[in-house]
Amino acid sequence: MIYPLEQLHKRDYEVQGYFYNPNIHPKAEYERRKDAVENFSLFTETPLVIAGYNPEEFFEAVRKTQDKPQRCPVCWYLRLKKTAGMAKQLDCQGFTTTLLASPYQDQQAIIKIGTDIAREEGLIFYSEDFRAGFRQAHNKAHKMSIYCQKYCGCSYSESERCRKSEKH
Ligand code: SF4
Repeated sequence: MIYPLEQLHKRDYEVQGYFYNPNIHPKAEYERRKDAVENFSLFTETPLVIAGYNPEEFFEAVRKTQDKPQRCPVCWYLRLKKTAGMAKQLDCQGFTTTLLASPYQDQQAIIKIGTDIAREEGLIFYSEDFRAGFRQAHNKAHKMSIYCQKYCGCSYSESERCRKSEKH
């Protein structure tokens, strides 16, 4: 969130935050990430809407597609579609996602999904490559004692991380 917000402010966008992450597991991890976003929003005086935590929405969406190559696009679509809906509700002209700041995500696939949803909804999808600031934002978060996630978010990605760390 740090780098995308800085870039959008530099470009004089008026930013409205939206935290919708039914994919995050377990609830304690969801709370940690939500608190971090809430605190940073307060610090930067960025308005923020937080959707309720409803992991069933994620599990229902990925029920038939639990392998990563199919699961992740479904997860991105779920979150971006809901974000577009909130953007319309708040009278925003467009939307973007902090997913574009991650070097671990498929940026081209996310841009395609975001652009398709924007077209359906009559909005603009703002697609900037925010990955350039990934390390810098990570260091800043550490300095500010802002929690940094250790895995993507869902229970599958948590298990994948555990399996990897067992091998080391
Ligand atoms: S790995 Fe990340 S993007 Fe993929 S389904 Fe899990 S939370 Fe979503």
